[in-house]
Amino acid sequence: MIPGLWRLRLPLPFPGVPHGNAWAIACDGGLVLVDTGMHEPGSMVELERAFDQVGLSVDDVRLVVCTHAHADHCGQAATICDRTGSEMWMHPNHAHGYASAVDPDTQVARRLEIGRQSGVPPAALERYAEHARESPSGIARAIEPDRELVDGVSIDSDLGVWSAYETPGHAPSHVCLFQPERRLLISGDHVLGRISLYFDYGWTPDPIGEFLRSLDVVDELDARLALSGHGKPFLDVHGHIEGNRALVRERLDAALAAVSDAPRTALEITPVVHGEPLTERNAGWWLPETLCYLQHLESRGLVARESDGGIERWAAVLSN
Ligand SMILES: [Zn+2]
Ligand SMILES: [Zn+2]
Repeated sequence: MIPGLWRLRLPLPFPGVPHGNAWAIACDGGLVLVDTGMHEPGSMVELERAFDQVGLSVDDVRLVVCTHAHADHCGQAATICDRTGSEMWMHPNHAHGYASAVDPDTQVARRLEIGRQSGVPPAALERYAEHARESPSGIARAIEPDRELVDGVSIDSDLGVWSAYETPGHAPSHVCLFQPERRLLISGDHVLGRISLYFDYGWTPDPIGEFLRSLDVVDELDARLALSGHGKPFLDVHGHIEGNRALVRERLDAALAAVSDAPRTALEITPVVHGEPLTERNAGWWLPETLCYLQHLESRGLVARESDGGIERWAAVLSN
């Protein structure tokens, strides 16, 4: 690995996403910590263990930087800042991630309404609500960033200066960091080694459009090595970006094909988009993703929605 840069691999409680990365960067005798892992019972012990394994200590942290406001990336920020006196820098559009910590009831109600509009049956919604009300947010405390991590903000380190690039799409608050001399990209969840798409629905008008533009932003940087929020670092950053573009195109095409003959609900469209049945385990991830594709197609004038009894159906707009 690169001297002065360490990967801290932290356990996560998500099925299919068992680990997340934090990145420690040497800076003037201390450390910049990019991302924090999630807050849950025992999670600080896990963080300390990960530091210990590379011969470092959480007490060396001088600055916490979060690539975005998802709990697995910012959840322990408050705990680390309380302990070390560090500042925390993050993008100001963090409401999407903080909502479940700040106002969990409203967040559950919002997601229930999205499910209802999408055609999810009431009994399934009730089971979801029960589960959601019991689930902790994974965020120790929702703290305001000491500095807004927006385009042009730079972070000094022993490896050189890193520049922030706003890359909304996966999340409205997403930012990548780039070190130009070494062509290193801290890619967060924007580009992962194993292509996996996730979008927050309902916080911005068109997450898919934002994501595609953010892929262009990162492609321009011509990074050599990506240090991602999950999984191992990877080369061929451009190839991975192309893979993301291709998968988005494929799923947009599938969503459009699914509504070509008759209006359908997002619940009906989702299994077509993914080529797999929708289950109560994947619905919280896949349904919002499908809605983002439909919203993007709508913004391009290719589909339209109609509401009947509060349930939305999507249909192709026929061109003559
Ligand atoms: Zn994320
Ligand atoms: Zn993540």
